[in-house]
Amino acid sequence: MNYETIIGLEIHVQLNTRSKTFCSCSTRYGERPNSHTCPVCLGLPGALPVLNEEVLRKGVTAGIALGCDIAENSVFAWKNYFYPDLPKAYQISQFEFPLNKNGYVLIEDENGREKKIDLTRAHLEEDAGKLIHDEVPKGPSKVDYNRCGVPLLEIVTEPDIRTPEEAYRFLSAVKEILQYTGVSECNMEKGELRVDVNISIRQEGEERFGVKQEIKNMNSFANVKRALEYEIKRQTKILRSGGVLSQETRLFNTNKNATVSMRAKEEAHDYRYFPDPDLVPVVIKSDFIDEIRQKLPELPEARRARFIARYGLTAYDSEILCSSYRIANYFEEACENFSNPKKIANWILSEVMRVLKEEKIEIDQCKVTPQMLRELFDLMEGGTISGKIAKEVFDNMVSTGKSAALIVEEKGLRQVSDRGEIDIVVNDVLIENEKVVSDYRAGKKSAFGYLVGQVMKKTEGKANPKLVNEMLKEKIEK
Ligand code: ADP
Ligand code: ZN
Ligand code: MG
Repeated sequence: MNYETIIGLEIHVQLNTRSKTFCSCSTRYGERPNSHTCPVCLGLPGALPVLNEEVLRKGVTAGIALGCDIAENSVFAWKNYFYPDLPKAYQISQFEFPLNKNGYVLIEDENGREKKIDLTRAHLEEDAGKLIHDEVPKGPSKVDYNRCGVPLLEIVTEPDIRTPEEAYRFLSAVKEILQYTGVSECNMEKGELRVDVNISIRQEGEERFGVKQEIKNMNSFANVKRALEYEIKRQTKILRSGGVLSQETRLFNTNKNATVSMRAKEEAHDYRYFPDPDLVPVVIKSDFIDEIRQKLPELPEARRARFIARYGLTAYDSEILCSSYRIANYFEEACENFSNPKKIANWILSEVMRVLKEEKIEIDQCKVTPQMLRELFDLMEGGTISGKIAKEVFDNMVSTGKSAALIVEEKGLRQVSDRGEIDIVVNDVLIENEKVVSDYRAGKKSAFGYLVGQVMKKTEGKANPKLVNEMLKEKIEK
């Protein structure tokens, strides 16, 4: 008996507005607990929420980028439940009338075919506060309400995903789109993107879906994949042995690499949704949408295609550069007015990426700006330094933030292209290596490389390699 996996995802992404959804409190992360709160986001009696226009703008931007239908009329509703991180005892969300409906995201499935993952909706809501549980067992728990009222977009997919890998690719694609459109940084360590995973198993050929399990609040795509892989094994085993699954909400335990039950369906909430009596329905005119549509930045797919066509990059290189819009921007800025973009792409993919990994930094924290990188390339192209020296200069730029030209001057790394100077070194090397020279003359061609190496060593890598080759050959073959 073969089983098929069905997966649907719910993604909460924080929209990067400066102020909260319904009040003017700051959304800044990492501030003193409860320092960014007011009667509105604390839900004090009589306080009235007012929708932040920027939240709507970013919600529509994401909706357009995700191919959704933008609703002319949408409504905020109360989602009622009690929890200590929710002082109002209701969350303002959208239920019957969400801002964005339908929509889709394209991914490549595991057979390399394009696959469309349909979206059910992408609605606006506010975040809750954050509970901080003391490390000491039975110690006190604290609550920080700074996050209360921070805007979220909840993206819900249709049950279109079939494998953990597809889920991973879908999430990566969504994250790229949200970052490219500037609606969120999607920094998962700061909780700006959280995923709830729904998964069920059914016998192949069966039309009805199996009983789904929900795994809540995952903040790493790798863990999403692991949790799904674990669930497939667990559910298949139960079904194979004739057992039945009941609907559950589960949590992924990263230490055990396993999911554990949190609550059964019977304990699920009834949220008693109803329209928020304090907020007017949201009515969007078509020119508001048109304006956003016109300003929409280039999306990842289009950019990848353009990098291939315009800069002659391979699909693979283009994919890696575009996986972060910051790196893609860096590349394009470095290439400006430079004749050989492929060379710059290779440098970014090897040297720059290596530095980012080693120093655990983002590209905009790198001391070498795109302009500085291009100056380094100008020095190489102009023959002032060799490629080998360029690597040394680059490492120095990374640690000091100095310009390539300054480092070359300070360290005396300028390439030696003076024939007279090289001639002296070549003569020395020939005299010191008589045996190698005679080997070469006797037919051992590989001896030549050794001699070139000796000249480079004596000049500390500064001799122009082309000239060295030329002059050595001239002398040795005479
Ligand atoms: P609920 O009412 O429990 O919130 P929904 O129908 O709203 O369930 O679906 C929530 C998410 O679960 C969606 O992403 C949806 O695609 C997915 N989903 C629904 N049914 C299944 C299923 N049987 N197996 C896997 N995913 C499912
Ligand atoms: Zn507030
Ligand atoms: Mg639902």
